[in-house]
Formats: sequence, C-alpha cells, structure tokens
Amino acid sequence: METTPIPMLDLKAQYARIKDAADAAVMRVIESQHFINGPDVERLEQELATYCRAKHCIGVSSGSDALLVALMALDVGPGDEVITSPFTFFATVGAISRLGAKPVFVDINPVTFNIDPDAIADKVGPATKAIIPVHLFGQCAEMSPILEIAEQHHLAVIEDAAQAIGAEYQGRRAGSLGAAGCFSFFPSKNLGGFGDGGAVVCNDAALAEKIRLLRGHGSQPKYIHKLVGGNFRLDTIHAAVLRVKLPLLDSWSSAREQAAVHYTRLFATSGLGNLTVVPKVTQSRHIFNQYVIRCDDRDGLREHLRRRGISTEIYYPLPMHLQACFANLGYKKDDFPESEKASLSTLALPMYPELSTAQRERVVHTIGNYYVSAGKLARRLAA
Ligand SMILES: *Cc1c(COP(=O)(O)O)cnc(C)c1O
Repeated sequence: METTPIPMLDLKAQYARIKDAADAAVMRVIESQHFINGPDVERLEQELATYCRAKHCIGVSSGSDALLVALMALDVGPGDEVITSPFTFFATVGAISRLGAKPVFVDINPVTFNIDPDAIADKVGPATKAIIPVHLFGQCAEMSPILEIAEQHHLAVIEDAAQAIGAEYQGRRAGSLGAAGCFSFFPSKNLGGFGDGGAVVCNDAALAEKIRLLRGHGSQPKYIHKLVGGNFRLDTIHAAVLRVKLPLLDSWSSAREQAAVHYTRLFATSGLGNLTVVPKVTQSRHIFNQYVIRCDDRDGLREHLRRRGISTEIYYPLPMHLQACFANLGYKKDDFPESEKASLSTLALPMYPELSTAQRERVVHTIGNYYVSAGKLARRLAA
C-alpha cells in the first residue's frame, strides 16, 4: 500500500520555484531597514489593482482586517444589519460583530456553496446597511442579482474575495464588482505571503482614501487624527514577497483548474457518482482555492484517507449561526438547512498547483476503495 503523504497544500514545492527571487526580495527589505510602507507596498498596491481590474488598492494586515476596515470605511456600526452567508470562515461574520452591527444570515445555494441571491430580499429591512457575499472556495457568488438588490435598497456590497483572487464573474474580476473587495494573503490562499497580509480594492477614490486613512490610525498628517482607525498596515517584507509571486499567480491558478478538471474526470470514470458530488463550475473562472466534494459517510472516508497518508480538511464543520459566540443572535439548528448539510457532508481534497496526476489518481482511487471495501457501493447499486 502506497502511503507517501499527500498534503492538502505543499508550500515547499512552490517555494523551491521562487526561492532565489523571494529570498532576494526579503534581503533587499532587510538591507534597506525600511519595514513600514515604502515603495514595495505602493508598487504591490498598483500591481494588485491592475490584476483585479479595480481603480484602487490598499494593502492591509490580513484578510480579516480588510473586511473590518472596509466596513469601518462604510460607517457600519451599532444599529446596522449586514447580510451574509453562515457557511464561511469566521472572519466574515467576526468583522460585522466587532463593529457592533448585527449579522443577518441567508442560506447558501447547495450547488455552489455561495449565498442564495433569491433569499436575500426577504431579509432586507430598514436597518440593513450592506451585503457581504463570500466567494467561497474560489468561485464568485451570483453577483448580478446581489448587486441589483443592493442598488434597489441603497446597500453597500463588500465582497469577501479572500479565497477568490483572480476569479471572474461574467468577465469581471472578483473584488471589483461591489463597493469594496477584500483579499487575504494568508499562506494557504492562492496568493499567499510569508505570513499574514491582505488588501482591499475599490473603484471609488474617496472610499480608497478613507480606507488608507483608517489603516494608519486615521492620522493625516502624522499625529493629527481625523478618524479613529487602527494599525492595519501590510508589512513591507510581505509586500516584497507578494510582488515576486503575483506574476506567477495566473499560472498557478490555471494549474489548479487543470487539477480540478482531472479530479472531476477521475470521479466520473470511477463510478463514484452516487457517493460523491464534485464541484460545479457555474462562473467564468473558478480559481479552486479548494476542491470540495460532498460525500456519503464523510467522517469515515476522511479517517480512511488519513490512515493512507492523504490529508483532507473540512471547510467548515460548524456554520456561523450555530457558533457559541453568536448565540445572542438567537438562531437555532435547522434555520439554514443547506449550510448545515454542507457542514456535515463536505470534504476538501489536496489541491495545489504542483499536485501531480499520480497523486490525484491515488486520492480518487483511495476514495473508491473506501466505498467498495465498506460495501457501500454494492448496497447503493442494489438499492
Ligand atoms: C482566509 C479568509 C478570511 C480571512 O483572512 P485572514 O488573512 O486569515 O485574516 C476571510 N474570509 C474568508 C472567506 C477566508 O477564507
């Protein structure tokens, strides 16, 4: 039995390809002793704005802070409601909550795992201030109807594009469609830094200026404070590394897409169609930050894979409306059935640009083995 580990993500393989350039970039910053702001941050911001096809970009300290500062700049606060998905990473909802605003959840579309636009209108009320669609796993939410509802009710749309840099919706890039788009450079994202980092993109010059101000404690000029902001700066070392990686991002995202197409073909030819559901691509460009299947007996399968050296992950095991820290919102089990079902049945498989054909074959083969050995396939076919 082949048990060489297959990780979820192999950052060392990526580092091997860029080591010389990345090390040189870090050394350049160290030699300059210029660790805060400076030309690397400014150039990265310009390069990211171009890449995202947005007018402005502000580098920040993390994806979480990108969401927080974007909401602050849009004056979201106590008394406001913000509509979002309960099937997301904590940061989306944490940012709303930290500002004293109330998260209002809308269930997901089970095919895409993204917020169901048809269910949004019912949740819009006099206190609604914004909508945060999350482009989960690397595919954009259904933005046209979301933008339409937002326009009708004068709501701001903030895209949580942390997992979707370079993804496209009807030919437009993630993050450039709403009032502001938030990105994360956490190492496991498609564009990952050597630590925490993030960015906000937007098309409105006044909003960009306000986010820039809030990023540095609202100070302009130095020690004169117009607004209460925070320290949300992107470290120069991280900006320098991200500038080395950005030109390679499209080739990496294409390699992920090819890996995803291959996985999907392998599932189809392995006769696992009854037991697994592979990701559906509904938008023009899915960047596959994660390749997430739905499966029968998820936890048993995960353990079977783990014993054979194959790492997997569950994104996310508990939807936000059922988290203890949001109990005050008064939600209960069965309020968002699709999110709850997804949290019990989804499994993210190893996915990174360097993942080989043989590795993908082994992953799908091992999944097939589980169901055959457990007699599940036979039972299912007999039924
Ligand atoms: C990663 C992520 C974030 C937060 O990014 P950090 O850089 O880790 O703070 C926010 N939202 C989603 C959907 C994410 O996946």
